[in-house]
Parts: sequence; structure tokens; C-alpha cells
Amino acid sequence: MHVERLQERVALAPFATLGIGGPARWFVRATHVEHLLTASRSEGEPLFVLGGGSNLVISDEGFNGLVLQIAIGGVNTTRDGEDVIVTAGAGESWDSLVESAVKQDLAGIECLSGIPGTVGGTPIQNVGAYGQEVATVIEWVAAYDRVERAAVRLSRDDCGFAYRMSRFKREDAGRFMISEVAFRLKRGAPPTVTYPDVVDYLAQQNVQCAHVQHVRDAVLHIRRRKGMVLDAADSDTRSVGSFFMNPVVDRTTFERIAPAPHYLMDNDTVKIPAAWLIEQSGFARGHSDGAVGLSTKHPLAIVNRGAATARDVLRLAHRIKLAVRERFEVHLRPEPVFVGFAPDDADVAFLTL
Ligand code: NAP
Repeated sequence: MHVERLQERVALAPFATLGIGGPARWFVRATHVEHLLTASRSEGEPLFVLGGGSNLVISDEGFNGLVLQIAIGGVNTTRDGEDVIVTAGAGESWDSLVESAVKQDLAGIECLSGIPGTVGGTPIQNVGAYGQEVATVIEWVAAYDRVERAAVRLSRDDCGFAYRMSRFKREDAGRFMISEVAFRLKRGAPPTVTYPDVVDYLAQQNVQCAHVQHVRDAVLHIRRRKGMVLDAADSDTRSVGSFFMNPVVDRTTFERIAPAPHYLMDNDTVKIPAAWLIEQSGFARGHSDGAVGLSTKHPLAIVNRGAATARDVLRLAHRIKLAVRERFEVHLRPEPVFVGFAPDDADVAFLTL
């Protein structure tokens, strides 16, 4: 078995799209499933599993434990009747997987084009965009269970998926080290075209009968316009993408806020774009606050303008959440995962309230 070298005091900022984060006490890359078992034996040492780093706010003090970077690769495709099961190692690039599925005419994840990060990160927050979410196509998730001390395979129902949420982020945070994910895709099926941005783009391009490739192109175009596709030359993309989730409120709350852009959901609830609430509360795109600010292209993205600290990011997020709460009495909830902060950190506690 090939075991990668254990390194000491490794700066984490280069592993995070936000470009912020102090050192890991210990750091190791896992390129094989067996490495997960080895790492899980590091008794007593706090463990953090790192994927693509696209959804992390890592503290300025870093992480006082072992950071395990999941770099397990490999993609396999098998047929199951009309469907195709695509299985990918957790360390594979998510967007490369989407690109390859679209090239093979497989429908189911085309709207999730241009999302940074790795395959293994997608079930954790049930990544979704433009009318698709991974929960609908995930067949199973393979992981190492640190409680049962065994390799397990969880079916879609076992994953406890909800809007941008799963058991991996909620009750079982830190329990499972995801090694592989299988997706059930449909060859030749029509793509999902439901979101206004996508519908409008395809109409502008005179696309009558959309193919998965058209939808991928549309989503990439829309995301680039919003600074949501990683680009080293564009400081607007030095972020975790959307910092807050889009709140789903009850009808009474919505009527108090209306008129506002909104989408009707199940159980008489209404989803309001967080971006709109933020702008209405006095934080416009391009807002600047020392080394941090809001993307000039999207008010939902807090960006590191160069030398920002994690504390700068948290303080701006704190001010935004407070402003939205004071103006609309709506609690915005953060989307990223906070790493290496003290359990009683006041900013993190307020944000996750
Ligand atoms: P957007 O396209 O400006 O849309 C703003 C809001 O409208 C979002 O709340 C979106 O819901 C909602 N919406 C638009 N059309 C809808 C429809 N036909 N039915 C129901 N809801 C509709 O949003 P954005 O901030 O630029 O983000 C674009 C997409 O990427 C969104 O889907 C967003 O959720 C997604 N995204 C996901 C992640 C993640 O998974 N972690 C991170 C960043 C962005 P939804 O949010 O439910 O889609």
C-alpha cells in the first residue's frame, strides 16, 4: 500500500478558494481508500477531511489536528437498463465529471456545471443549482465510518438529503470520510431547463430543442457572468461562492416583506433570493470593507481582495446577517463550513444561529 508522507505545519490557505487559513498541525494526502483507515487510527487527534476547499472558511489559527486531503481518483461507467451509473473517486474534479458526462450525452448533472470542488464534497451539502441537485441522481455514497470503524455504502435514502443539506453536514458532521460517489444518469434524456436565466440564455441563442451540452454552455456562461467560475485572474472569484443560503420563509413572513422576488415552495412556504435581501439591506455588489468585500458581480459572494483574514470575512458576514435581520427579521444561514474555530467563537455562533 502506498502511503503518502505525513507533513507538519502545512499552510491551508492555498487549499481554499477563499485563499485564507492558518496551518494544519499535521497534513496528509489520501490517494487510496486504505489511507482513510490509516488516518482514522490517529487516535485522539482532531481530524478534518479536505476536498476541493471551495466551501471552507478556515480560521487564521489553522487547524490543530490532522488534515486529510482526499485525492482518491478514478471514474467508472456501467449500464443499468436505460440508465448509466457513473462512479467517481471523491478526489475527482466535479466539473471534469460533469463535462465528461455531458460529452457522453448523459443527463442529470448538466445544470451543475462550473461548480468548483471535488466529487466527494457534493453529497455533503447536496450541491444544487439551476433546478438540479445531486440528491436526485446519487445512487450511493461510499465512505469510511469513523463511529462503526468500517467501510460503508450509503444509499440515497441513507444520506438524509434536504435543501443544500445532508446528514454529513448535520447530525453526522465529521463521522464519514467519503471515498466514492455513484450517480444514476440518463443517456439521451432531455436536459433540465427550468430556471429563468437558463431559459432566457437559450432563447437568446435561438436554441429550440436543448441538448445537455447547450445547458452546460448556458450555465457556464451565466456563472462566469456572476464571477462564480474560478478564475485566477479574477479576484471576484476568490470566495466560497454563495456565502448565504436562500431563505425559505412562511407565508406570513413573506407577506410582511413583499413585494420581493420569490418562488413558491412546498407546504405554503416561499423562497426569497438572499442576494436581494442583502442588497435591500444596504450591501451592494462591489461593497468594500478593507481587505474584504462583496463580488462586483454577485452580492452573495464575500471576496478576499488580497490580504484578508478569516476574521475579516466573519465580521463582514456578521454585519450582513445583522442588517438583513434588522430590516426583514429573516435569519440568513451561512453555506460554508467553518474550520478550526473555537467552539465558542462569537462570530461563528451568531452566523450559524
Ligand atoms: P439566481 O439564479 O439569481 O436565483 C436566485 C434565487 O431564485 C435562488 O434562490 C433560486 O433558488 C431561485 N430560483 C430561480 N429560479 C427558480 C425556479 N424556477 N424555481 C425555484 N427557485 C428558483 O441565484 P444565484 O445566487 O445566482 O445562484 C444560481 C444557482 O446556483 C442557484 O440555483 C443557487 O442555489 C445555486 N448555488 C448553489 C450553491 C450550492 O449548492 N452550494 C452555491 C452557489 C449557488 P435555488 O437557490 O433553490 O436554486
